[in-house]
Amino acid sequence: MLIKDKEFGEVIVRKSPLARGVRFSVSTSGRLQMSVPKYTSDFLAKRFLNANRDAIRSKLPLRNPDEQRARDYQKKILMKKAKDYLPYRLEYYAKLYNYQYEKCRLTHANTRWGSCSSNRTISLNIGLMKIPEVLRDYVILHELAHLNHMDHSKAFWAEVGSHDKNYRNHEKKLKLFSPGL
Ligand SMILES: [Zn+2]
Repeated sequence: MLIKDKEFGEVIVRKSPLARGVRFSVSTSGRLQMSVPKYTSDFLAKRFLNANRDAIRSKLPLRNPDEQRARDYQKKILMKKAKDYLPYRLEYYAKLYNYQYEKCRLTHANTRWGSCSSNRTISLNIGLMKIPEVLRDYVILHELAHLNHMDHSKAFWAEVGSHDKNYRNHEKKLKLFSPGL
C-alpha cells in the first residue's frame, strides 16, 4: 500500500504477519518505508507516521519527492538499456568460454554488481550500464567463473585471470563506482 504524504511523498506501507511493531526504513528509491503488523488499518498507519514525523525527518536519509521520481525515471531508462544488453553480453561470453548458466536476472540492489547462485542463476545489476564497458565485462566474467568456483579461491581468480588479464586492476577500478542509483 502507498500513503501519499505532503512531506515525504509516496510512503510504502508493508503489512507483515511477522511485524510486531512499527518500523521505519528507507527504500532503495529513497522513499520512506513502514513495516506494520498485518491487521493495521490505513488510518492507524497514518497516525503512526504523524506521531513519528520528527524522528523520521532527523534520522532517516530520505530523498525528497522530486528526487524519488527522478530516480524512478532513471531506473526505468537504465532497466530498459540493461534488458537490451546484459543478457546478450552474458550469453556471448558464456558461449565464448563454454559456460552453462540457468538464467540471467537483472537487479537494482544498492550493494552488489552481480552474483551467481548455486542454482546457476546469474544476477546482474542494471547499474552496470553506467560504468565503462571493460568493467562491465569484468563483472560478467567474474560471475561466470563463479559457475565453476563458488568462492574467491586461488583457482577462482586463476580462472577469471584466464579470461581477463587485467582483472586485478578492474576489480580495483570497480570500487570507484557504486551500483546504486
Ligand atoms: Zn565474486
